[in-house]
Amino acid sequence: MKNKSYNPFETAQEQFDHAAELLELDQGTRELLRNPMREYHFNIPVRMDDGIVKVFRGFRVQHNDARGPAKGGIRFHPQETIDTVRALSMWMTWKTAVADLPLGGGKGGVICDPHTLSVFEQEKICRGWVREIFKNVGPKIDIPAPDVMTSAQHMLWMLDEYEALSGSKNPGFITGKPVGMGGSLGRKEATGYGVVITIREALKELNIDPNNTTASFQGFGNVSQFAFELYQQMGGTVICVSCWDQDDQKSYSYKKKDGINLSELLSVTSPLGSIDKIKAKELGYEQLPGDAWLDQDVDILMPAALENQITENNVAKISQHVKIIAEGANGPTTNEADKLIDERNIYIIPDFLANAGGVTCSYFEQVQSNINNYWEKDEVLSKLDVKMTKAFVSVSDFSKEHNLPMRDAAYVIAVDRVAQACHDRGWV
Ligand code: NAD
Repeated sequence: MKNKSYNPFETAQEQFDHAAELLELDQGTRELLRNPMREYHFNIPVRMDDGIVKVFRGFRVQHNDARGPAKGGIRFHPQETIDTVRALSMWMTWKTAVADLPLGGGKGGVICDPHTLSVFEQEKICRGWVREIFKNVGPKIDIPAPDVMTSAQHMLWMLDEYEALSGSKNPGFITGKPVGMGGSLGRKEATGYGVVITIREALKELNIDPNNTTASFQGFGNVSQFAFELYQQMGGTVICVSCWDQDDQKSYSYKKKDGINLSELLSVTSPLGSIDKIKAKELGYEQLPGDAWLDQDVDILMPAALENQITENNVAKISQHVKIIAEGANGPTTNEADKLIDERNIYIIPDFLANAGGVTCSYFEQVQSNINNYWEKDEVLSKLDVKMTKAFVSVSDFSKEHNLPMRDAAYVIAVDRVAQACHDRGWV
């Protein structure tokens, strides 16, 4: 989102076009899947704490719902654009399909910066977002969830507004809710844990013992923190993480060459995933430039911040030591960089497979909310492991069988499932 010339939707469409070629899709199916089925743009007027009304721009895009209700997060970001939301909604369609969930793909957003908004202002934005889109979302239509800079609290305000408007309890309307208020145990861990489950499977394929591996992560928010936790339990060592620094308006990387202590670093990290640079230095962390996470001599790289982070301009910085890139974020690698990574034979676990744990657990949450019966955490996490492992193995097997890179294999499986559903419904 930082680079004005980068358009994530064009990236998503190029990736789709390539999959459509591989699948030899007919022209009607290509036209249908290349663009979202529906999109909503709206204004959210909010009376701010100082009494002035400010208007925020909100979006919801439903890319495809042939396999089930649309599903996808709502992102609050100052540089949010409709093309970012379109791209993310399309990637959600492929993600739910590759994980074989009975859901489609959607995404939403609001152009705003929560760093500069009070709690009351954020609540008003959440309620306003639901009021504008009320008729076009719901447990059987489109189920939102959190994304960058939105939390369980935001989801609960949104649910409360939805239930006030509908006049009934509908906890299945939204996921990522607080536990005890319709949320699922294991949801906060799910995306990061899911990424590590795919890393575990990739390490098996490469015959590498996780105990002897090191990793460097971009981002230190929800995905990264829980990926760190499970990766550490698996025996791996994280030596570097990066994050955004709101005061300096730039990112930094923080490194301990012998391994970062997760709870120590968490103790100096804000709820939005920013590390306090002064306290980190006091704890002995090296503070490095924002992109230093990428050139570390580690076995595993995990971009888990935003899209467009590994580009043709910085891909050469990736160390010869790196064996796996697990894309925790959506769209972190440009198509040009992807080709160069493929040429170097680095094992990529593509975003919509690697980070599908979040939507998989969101689906579990939706099921629990709809039946009003909540599972134990172990049950949720073991179901997550089964789903993620199955998705990984089917992509990996397909990749080997057809001699395709992992990203192409994941695309072919996902697009084929969605195209088939559109065909079976008689749409194309
Ligand atoms: P988050 O808001 O919890 O954390 C984001 C982290 O990235 C923070 O540490 C922030 O400081 C850092 N960051 C932001 N800009 C950066 C920059 N330019 N350089 C370095 N670090 C930067 O977000 P999250 O939920 O962890 O999501 C991260 C990514 O994973 C996003 O692409 C999101 O779409 C994707 N994702 C999240 C989930 C989920 O369940 N949370 C599911 C699937 C995909």
